[in-house]
Amino acid sequence: MKNIILFGKPGAGKGTQAALLRDAFQLVHISTGDLFRYNIGNNTSLGALAKSYMDQGDLVPDEVTIKMLEAEVDANPDAGGFIFDGFPRTSKQAEALDEFLHGKEMRIQATIALEVDEEVLIKRLLNRGKDSGRADDQDEEKIRNRFEEYNNKTAPLISYYIAQNKFHSITGVGTVTEISEQLIALLDSL
Ligand code: AMP
Repeated sequence: MKNIILFGKPGAGKGTQAALLRDAFQLVHISTGDLFRYNIGNNTSLGALAKSYMDQGDLVPDEVTIKMLEAEVDANPDAGGFIFDGFPRTSKQAEALDEFLHGKEMRIQATIALEVDEEVLIKRLLNRGKDSGRADDQDEEKIRNRFEEYNNKTAPLISYYIAQNKFHSITGVGTVTEISEQLIALLDSL
C-alpha cells in the first residue's frame, strides 16, 4: 500500500499530478481543496464555513479540516493507497494524520514537493482563475496571502518529513508529462 503526500505551493500542479498518479498506481486521490469546494457547491454548513476562509486565501481551521479528511479516508476502506493533495498544511494536521493512520496500521511512505517559484505561480494562478472562476485565483493579493499561509504554516512540515526520512522534492516546472514521469519513477523506487 502506497500512501503519498503531494506537497507544494498553490498552483504548483499538485491536483494535475495527483490525478495522473491516482490512475498510474490505482490510488484514491483526496484533495481537501476539492472537498471544500464540493461542500460549497452543495451549500452545506461546512461549505459556508470553509468559504469564509478560502475567499480570503486563509487556511480553514485545523479541527474541521482534519475531521473532513479522516471521514474521507474512512469512506474508502478498500483503497489500495491514498494520494493526499493539499493535506496536511499545518503541523497539527501532519501529526493528526500520522496518528490517524497509525491507528489503522497504515503510514505515509513519502512526501513529494513540487518546487516552483512564486512569481511563476502567480502567473499560473491568475491564468487558471480566468477559466476556473475560483475567487482565490483571481486576485493577486489573495494569492500572495496563500503563499504567506504556506510559508508560515506549511513550509515547517518539510523538516517534519525530513526527520522521518520521507521528504523528496522535484521541479514542478516543465510539461505535465515530464513531471509525471519523474513522480512515477520516484514512486516506483519506494
Ligand atoms: P487548494 O485547492 O488545495 O489550493 O485549496 C484551496 C483552499 O482551501 C486553501 O487556500 C484553503 O483555504 C483551503 N484548504 C485546502 N486544504 C486545506 C488544508 N489542508 N488546511 C486548511 N485549509 C485548506
